[in-house]
Amino acid sequence: SYRKGGYHAVRIADNFSAGRYIAQKKLGWGQFSTVWLAYDTQSSKYVALKIQKSAPQFAQAAMHEIEILSAIAAGDPLNSKSVVRLEDSFKHAGPNGQHLCMALEFLGDSLLRLIKYNRYKGLELHRVKEMSRCILTALDYLHRELRIIHTDLKPENILLCSTINPSKDPIRSDFTPILERPEGNTNEGVSVMSKIERRLKQRAKRAVARISERRIGIGDGMGRTPKAPRNLDGIDFTCKVVDFGNACWADTPIADEIQTRQYRAPEVILQSGYSFAADMWSFACTAFELATGEMMFAPKNGQGFSEDEDHLAMMMELLGKMPRKIATTGARSKEYFDRYGDLKRIRRLKYGSLDRLLVDKYKFSDADARELASFLCPILDFDPEKRPTAEQCLQHPWLIADSQTSEV
Ligand code: ADP
Ligand code: MG
Repeated sequence: SYRKGGYHAVRIADNFSAGRYIAQKKLGWGQFSTVWLAYDTQSSKYVALKIQKSAPQFAQAAMHEIEILSAIAAGDPLNSKSVVRLEDSFKHAGPNGQHLCMALEFLGDSLLRLIKYNRYKGLELHRVKEMSRCILTALDYLHRELRIIHTDLKPENILLCSTINPSKDPIRSDFTPILERPEGNTNEGVSVMSKIERRLKQRAKRAVARISERRIGIGDGMGRTPKAPRNLDGIDFTCKVVDFGNACWADTPIADEIQTRQYRAPEVILQSGYSFAADMWSFACTAFELATGEMMFAPKNGQGFSEDEDHLAMMMELLGKMPRKIATTGARSKEYFDRYGDLKRIRRLKYGSLDRLLVDKYKFSDADARELASFLCPILDFDPEKRPTAEQCLQHPWLIADSQTSEV
C-alpha cells in the first residue's frame, strides 16, 4: 500500500528532517509503518526511523505513540529502564502525504527471531532470567512510575540490545554509513550493506548456536548440561520493550479487546475490565515461551466452539478451574460459561499442571520445573487482583538466586 494515505516509499540514502537522517536499509514493517535503519548525521549514530502511513487515523495513532514515548523518555533520563528510547520525532512530506516519523534508539533482533534461530527449543534458563529481569524492569517502570499499560507484550515486541547495534560493536569500523545514493549503479549501496549484514548474521547465529546447548544436555538423560560459554562475542542478552502503538494510560483504556491472541489475559477475553495485571499475564506467557521455545497457549476454533472457548479451556487445563466468581462476572461470561462456572460447549477438560508439562513435554529437570512453575503460576492467577506486580516479581527467588545453581 505505497499509495495516497499509505506507506512512504524510501530509497537508500534518502534524506529526512532537513538532511539530518540518511536512510541506510529497511529493518522491518508493521501494520502502520515501515522502519528503516538511518544514520543520524548530528550524533553520528544509527537510529531506527519509524515512518508512519500518512492517512489521518495513522497520524493520530503515531501522535499517541509519540506522546507515550515522550513520557517514557522524560521519566528515564539515564535510559536504564529497558524501554526503547525516542530520540526525535518530525513530519516528512512525501508524494503520499505527510508522514509522522519517529527516530528511535536502534536495537537488534526481536526475541521471536531469537527463538526461531534457536529452532524453537528454548533458551538457557539463566538467559531467560536475564531477559525476564529486563522485561520486568520495563513493566515496573511503565506501571508504577508512569501508569502506562503496554497492552501488546510478546516476544516480537521485545528487541535485543546489542546483537547488531553497530555503534556498540567492534565490527563498527566496517560499518561506514552511506551518505549519498551511489551514482549509476544503485545496487552498490545495497551490496555494501548486505556484506556487513551477512557478517552480523553469522555472528548472531554462532552465538545462538552456543546458547542452545541446554536442551541437549537435559534431554539426553545424562543429567549433564554443557557449561555456558564465557564469551558470547559481545552479545549481552539484555533486551528492551518496544512498540507503544497500542499502549495506554491506565485511567483511559484504549479498547475492549487488547493484546495479541496467545498473550491475552482471561479478564480481557471475558471483558471484566483490565489494568496492569493484563501485561503481567502476557509477561508470563512470554517467559514460558523463552524457556520452552513454544507458546503457552495457541488456541484454535473447532467444531462447536470458538477460539475464545478453546483458549479458556486451555488455561483451565493447565492452571486449574477458574473460580466461579471470576468466570461468571465478565460482560461476556454468559457466552462461554454456565452459572456454575463450567464452560458451556467444552465439557470434559484434561487437567494438568505447569511443572508436569515442563518435565514431561519439555524435559526440564524436576528442580528446574518446580522453580520456574513457582515463579510463573502466581502471575497466571485468574484473578488479576491477586497477580504479583512487576516490582514483586523482581523480588522472586527465581530471579534473585544465583543463576548458576539451577544449571547443575
Ligand atoms: P508497528 O507499530 O507498525 O507494528 P513496530 O514498532 O512494531 O511497528 O516496528 C516494526 C518492526 O520494525 C519491528 O518488528 C522491528 O523489526 C523493527 N523495529 C522497530 N523498532 C526498532 C528499533 N528501535 N530498532 C530496530 N528495529 C526496530
Ligand atoms: Mg509491532
